[in-house]
Amino acid sequence: MTSPVVVLIDSPTDPDAAPADSLRLVDARAPHIDVMDLGITRGDGIFETVGIIDGRVQSVDEHLRRFARSAALLELPAPNPELFRAAVELGIAHLPGVGDAFCKYVLTRGREGGPLDPTGYAYLDVNPDWTRERTIGISVVLLSRGYQLDVQTAAPWLLQGAKTLSYAVNRAVLREAGRRNADDVIFTTTDGYLLEGPTSSLVLRFGDELVTPAQSGGVLHGTTQIGTFEWGSGRGMRTGYRHVRVEELDHADALWLTSSQRLAAPVNAIDGRALAVDADETASLNAYLRGRQL
Ligand code: PLP
Repeated sequence: MTSPVVVLIDSPTDPDAAPADSLRLVDARAPHIDVMDLGITRGDGIFETVGIIDGRVQSVDEHLRRFARSAALLELPAPNPELFRAAVELGIAHLPGVGDAFCKYVLTRGREGGPLDPTGYAYLDVNPDWTRERTIGISVVLLSRGYQLDVQTAAPWLLQGAKTLSYAVNRAVLREAGRRNADDVIFTTTDGYLLEGPTSSLVLRFGDELVTPAQSGGVLHGTTQIGTFEWGSGRGMRTGYRHVRVEELDHADALWLTSSQRLAAPVNAIDGRALAVDADETASLNAYLRGRQL
């Protein structure tokens, strides 16, 4: 990590607020968030992480749409998209050099006990080196998320499908993966379906078809997965969203975990069983993902 760039966003849900008045570039080493902020005390808020390649933000609109959807699911006021868009651009202008970076932007419910006054900010930093994960690949373990496939309709208050700040579980599963000598995780449902990774979407290839688990199972709609489908369509593959049974892993020809920062990481083992990785195919996919406009 270098020194991150931090942009505070005043009045982040005011639809009339203008970037010139709302955005403040601040010293990343100084404290800026109230210790009583509900984002900290309860993880009550939402975020997005966008990839930045050669100084250009990827999938800006798709991220902002998902941010708005998460806000609605948490019954937060809608974030002003122009403020967040401008905050990312302001941050990029202050990143050291151009290259691969990321921006995480956040909206919280604001101060505990106070009137509703959401907190908004963005921070940016250069990416770690993901070369190994993008080429040799990653080993995964299947871990239960503890819910059935119908969680979104049976228990919408569990907020599956919203990108909330409550990611302690998503970190805990990675520690469990480490204990099992694996790099990452694919979540499963208690009734035997595949879902997603803790910070990534799952894309499977069966012959000439790309498949990803449908969002109605309580998974995020990944912007990188959308790019992966575009890449597949461009190569004449069929693409589809559907529920995928765990047993179908036995017939998959390739698997990737896709996300904005790491892009496509091919899965080279599941629960200790090795999977072949087609290096050329994955290189083509990652080259496509890196080259995406908007
Ligand atoms: N699913 C979860 C739970 C995530 O946290 C993420 C990204 O952080 C994704 C999927 C992938 O989304 P994207 O490709 O838009 O980064």
